[in-house]
Amino acid sequence: MKILVTGGCGFIGSNLIRLLIQEKGATVINLDKLTYAGNLASLSDLAEHERYQFEKIDICDAAALGKVFDRHQPDAVMHLAAESHVDRSIDGPGEFIQANIVGTYHLLQASLEHWRSLPDGNNFRFLHVSTDEVYGSLDPNDSSFSETTPYDPHSPYSASKAASDHLVRAWRDTYGLPILVTNCSNNYGPYQFPEKLIPAVILKCLRGESIPVYGKGENIRDWLYVNDHAEALYLVLTKGRVGETYNIGGNNEQTNLDLVKKLSEILEEEIRGKVDTPSHLKSFRNLITFVTDRPGHDARYAIDARKIRDELGWEPKEDFESGLRKTVRWYSENQDWLDNIPPATTN
Ligand code: NAD
Repeated sequence: MKILVTGGCGFIGSNLIRLLIQEKGATVINLDKLTYAGNLASLSDLAEHERYQFEKIDICDAAALGKVFDRHQPDAVMHLAAESHVDRSIDGPGEFIQANIVGTYHLLQASLEHWRSLPDGNNFRFLHVSTDEVYGSLDPNDSSFSETTPYDPHSPYSASKAASDHLVRAWRDTYGLPILVTNCSNNYGPYQFPEKLIPAVILKCLRGESIPVYGKGENIRDWLYVNDHAEALYLVLTKGRVGETYNIGGNNEQTNLDLVKKLSEILEEEIRGKVDTPSHLKSFRNLITFVTDRPGHDARYAIDARKIRDELGWEPKEDFESGLRKTVRWYSENQDWLDNIPPATTN
């Protein structure tokens, strides 16, 4: 199977491409603009692989997209390219409108033209990778988000992702493009840009800097190890019913404060003595500092993943504790990767 992956130099994309090439035998064309969040070093081990090719392209560039489809004739598209950081979307929403909405529109048009040109387009698939944030915010006792929960996005990021989800479904209803949509909860694991919460905490501890936690740290997120997400995406692409949406989640709700505390304990066990941490630092927990809350900060996200479990047999394999340990070890052993990206901002 020849799969065009957009955003493959980002966090989830690079982990997904490794899975597709090393475990699924797929041929991958990685299409990425290389924004600040895209990093070729995240796939350096595969750069020379015979089933891997990289195309540096902006999904807003319709002409370049058309040429890529002509040149590679993919069997499927897995669309991950997006601006993905909520704080950045608050500071500068324009990039999010361009990449997430306009870019998705151009990619849909190029995919549609390609699909129509295929002698037998029945097997072609367009998988759109989206977020649980499109569903809005839950109160503590509300039921989890299901595939039929009405959309209610609150940040420019989630609103732009919601818009892209609607476009993808409209291209199915209007033109018949064989699409699938997934909405997933927060991912964690190796190769995540350190502006996001978990790598930011790890990096702050490694450097002995304060760990900013929004408000009182009471916001709740559901966390999923990135490889479990990648497996789910492959399963939906290959076995999912065309036109359907599948929610993907870890069944693993944590307040931000509990998560940061848990992570500091693991860091204490895993890296103390192995890397240079400031000698005055008695405990990583002492680095926690509460900062002014993010505007419009959603209180709680939680995913009901029964549909993908019952229909496709998917369940997360990674336990939260072991996933966090793997992640901590990866960051402490890959400081070169960290040193080669711009200074971190935190979430
Ligand atoms: P990321 O920010 O780490 O990576 C995004 C990638 O897209 C980067 O490589 C970047 O260079 C590329 N990109 C951005 N704009 C582009 C453009 N105009 N043209 C081509 N490439 C462009 O993001 P991520 O965390 O890996 O997320 C990937 C996708 O999964 C996103 O669509 C995101 O909304 C979705 N998602 C993420 C999470 C999460 O927890 N990270 C959860 C659910 C869904």
